Amino acid sequence: MTALLALALAQGAGKITLAAVGDVSLTWGVQAQIARKGPGWAFEKAPMLRTADIAFGNLECALSKRKGAWKKRYTLIGRPETGEALRSSGLAVVSVANNHAFDAGADGFRDTLAALRGLGIAACGTNDDPVIIERKGLKIAFVGFGGYTEDHSGLIHRIEEQAITRAVTDARSKADLVVLAMHSGQEGVTHPTAHQRRIARVAAQAGADVVLGSHPHVWQPVEWIRAGGRRCVVAYSLGNFVFAARPGRMCETGVLEIELDKSGARAWRKIPMTIRGGRPEPGHPARPASQKHPRPFEGHGKASPTNSTPF
Ligand SMILES: [Zn+2]
Repeated sequence: MTALLALALAQGAGKITLAAVGDVSLTWGVQAQIARKGPGWAFEKAPMLRTADIAFGNLECALSKRKGAWKKRYTLIGRPETGEALRSSGLAVVSVANNHAFDAGADGFRDTLAALRGLGIAACGTNDDPVIIERKGLKIAFVGFGGYTEDHSGLIHRIEEQAITRAVTDARSKADLVVLAMHSGQEGVTHPTAHQRRIARVAAQAGADVVLGSHPHVWQPVEWIRAGGRRCVVAYSLGNFVFAARPGRMCETGVLEIELDKSGARAWRKIPMTIRGGRPEPGHPARPASQKHPRPFEGHGKASPTNSTPF
């Protein structure tokens, strides 16, 4: 190897792009469209997930043939074969620590994990955390925590501050970069609760480089938190992504692209997308598209008065 090539490789090594998206729910109208148009349909217009070094999403459904296990307003269960849509999505890792992972019960959750394994997609948010994925010589650890879950079997991580500190600290010792997925906040609300903010700070203080939120089904601000000599980028909610949502705010979404190197998160930008017919397409009403300064991106609405999250 020439010195020049070695230098080029060294420079290429250690700088990666993480593409992150919110809720992926392979159910309802989305499932019907996939059945009709094939597994490539759902993520066809989101090539940035395939060109990024690593892509993450929140899997907001069970993948199982079983029936709903609970009486709840929305039961999100996709057939295992609908999971084929994930194979070509570009997603390398999904979080399963959320309030729909157990919609088909504990056995349905095991079905989901088996389906993901079959697709070659890693699942974070279970006792197997941290999920560690290596790209360009960097080890990226993913841990997931969720609220509102019916799981009482201990199979997925429930949001709890000490557990988050322990999990992030453990991941920090095993990897170069740490990403925490958190499923929390209030549905339909465009600003984070005090609880979401506290959890993000706990994660940052323990050494997380990135916090990726979901559950509110709408986008919330993205901001930097400084802690322990590192900068952590926090996306309080990434909204929906592949989701049979009614047209409107819940369809205004995007892909969060984060640039990382060994020292942590360097910059982020939002690529605007709009969900049409259940899948995201490029474009969004005019909004600022990127910023590199540690300042909230699209904070609007009043600050949350109290922590009203039902944990
Ligand atoms: Zn949720």
